Amino acid sequence: MFSTDAGIPLSVPCLRGNEWAYIKECLDTNWVSSVGPFVERFEAMVAQKVGARFAVATVNGTSALHIALLVAGVKPGDEVVLSDLTFIAPANAVRYVGAWPVFVDAEPRFWQIDPEKLCHFLEGDCVSTNQGLRNRHTGRIVKAIMPVHILGHPCDMLPIMALAGRYGLTVIEDASEGLGTRYDNRAVGHLGHIACFSFNGNKIITTGGGGMIVTDQEKWAQRARYLTTQAKDDPLEFVHGEIGYNYRLTNISAAMGCAQMECLSEFISQKRATAATYSKAFAETPGISVPNEATNAFCTFWLYTILIEQEAYGMNSRALLRCLEAQGIQTRPLWQPLHMSPAHQGSWTTDCSVSVRLNRDALSLPCSVGVSTNELEAVIAGVNEIPFGILAGAKPHTLAKFST
Ligand SMILES: *Cc1c(COP(=O)(O)O)cnc(C)c1O
Repeated sequence: MFSTDAGIPLSVPCLRGNEWAYIKECLDTNWVSSVGPFVERFEAMVAQKVGARFAVATVNGTSALHIALLVAGVKPGDEVVLSDLTFIAPANAVRYVGAWPVFVDAEPRFWQIDPEKLCHFLEGDCVSTNQGLRNRHTGRIVKAIMPVHILGHPCDMLPIMALAGRYGLTVIEDASEGLGTRYDNRAVGHLGHIACFSFNGNKIITTGGGGMIVTDQEKWAQRARYLTTQAKDDPLEFVHGEIGYNYRLTNISAAMGCAQMECLSEFISQKRATAATYSKAFAETPGISVPNEATNAFCTFWLYTILIEQEAYGMNSRALLRCLEAQGIQTRPLWQPLHMSPAHQGSWTTDCSVSVRLNRDALSLPCSVGVSTNELEAVIAGVNEIPFGILAGAKPHTLAKFST
């Protein structure tokens, strides 16, 4: 793990609110486990922020996705259409229920799942049968769409929901990176039928580890609560109606979550200010493109990410990564496109050339909520000066070896 005094980290938590006080309250009152007042309060705070009727806290975002797929009725052998360019967790969750992901490319402007390519797959590659929509290539039934809102920007949900309606598909949003993100002035996580959040250490708010399922459907919320607590029918006699999971969040983690939720608006403002500073500084830099925000979107810029075009910039994204690393600046590429993942061979994929290019060119820059002006200036100087050899002490000929 990158420590704060070792350099400029990519994204670390900001713990300057009531975290200590609330966690101390758990210890003082002995409410340390997966029941307690902070769990309910945290669920209520997230539900309220998203505008959803129900929220069920889970031990992490991946388990939230697993349970959301179960309550949405995704069965072994079904298919779930998924963003190709995302962290691997949602694809793994699809496999946990015995279903298969189908990967759909990112669109080039906002890097989210491409609704046109989604439409192309549903229309061109699938046929309606009396069991449902069947993928002609695999013979499997397509049950759901799982759009993943990546990097704090929303997916283009209007066409996605229209397609879901037309084909009778359930929409499970992976909103892990999208708490506070808005689309058409509506909260991400309240645009589909059920949604999941993550509160892992590098997310916009953190509980150390944690997740949340949100939905307006009471039956689904009840079932999510049931499945995450070992499907317990009778708590006294330990009667369990089916195979459940131990996926509940602890009161200690939820206490941290409540403190973090109190700061969410401030965190988002700071992320947006960081993004504005970077985008202004890179506006004239040859070969660098800054992230776009759709006109109907409110982006949190959870991870501020640029694209590096090798020809114009003078080196590629990985070479820049290593140069910045040498200066103590931590950056990170985007995830390997899932259709290329060794873990997900055997899944159907559509043409995903855009996500391949984005993976090649993208680099996320330090953007912790607490990042200082000096740190931002150091990153900006690095990006703007390294390939042009004008950074103090930089020797272009030694840096050139990084340009592979
Ligand atoms: C972080 C993340 C997850 C998984 O959350 P965990 O809490 O780490 O299990 C799922 N999907 C996306 C898109 C994520 O970024």
